Amino acid sequence: MLFCASCAVKNCGRPMGAEGDYPGGCPSLDPVLSEALEKYRDPEERLMARQSAVTSPDHGESRLPKTIRFAKLCGFQKLGLAFCITLKDEAAQVDRILRQEGFQVSSIICKVGHVSRQEVLGVGGSCNAMCNPIAQAELLNREKTQLNIVLGLCVGHDSLFIRHSEAPVTVLAAKDHVYDNAPLEYLKHH
Ligand code: SF4
Repeated sequence: MLFCASCAVKNCGRPMGAEGDYPGGCPSLDPVLSEALEKYRDPEERLMARQSAVTSPDHGESRLPKTIRFAKLCGFQKLGLAFCITLKDEAAQVDRILRQEGFQVSSIICKVGHVSRQEVLGVGGSCNAMCNPIAQAELLNREKTQLNIVLGLCVGHDSLFIRHSEAPVTVLAAKDHVYDNAPLEYLKHH
């Protein structure tokens, strides 16, 4: 069982070179770590990990500019934008900004295909067309995008999209109907 969220010491996060003890059963001592580290030898994995390491410490940069910087540092030119129809205005804005930054952008809405939820999933109670994250991913796969950006896909739809996306995925915004797409706001109220 992995228990980092409830670990009181977080010894893995100590500064390099500092002393410290790991708790019993700590995954930092798990032999699988050396296998994981081997995977950073792969040039693409290494490039992404390095550029993320470069961009992540800059706390004065919001997520969209950071995503743009990360994509440029990785040499990605073809981006996918998988968005929710409820954020269509924001998607148009993000699309424009990414294009202004020189990227080729393929954008794909959740309702693509205008498919009946009742017919495909047996879910009634709404006249809304079904969200279609597998199609979103497969259409972007066909475009051979190099990085797919998720904008406001619902819980579960994002899971399916990520599972089916061939390109690596980053989330620009996570859907939250109550807290204006800032899910961690919930923690301030509970
Ligand atoms: S890796 Fe070990 S020290 Fe770090 S949070 Fe998890 S249990 Fe704690």
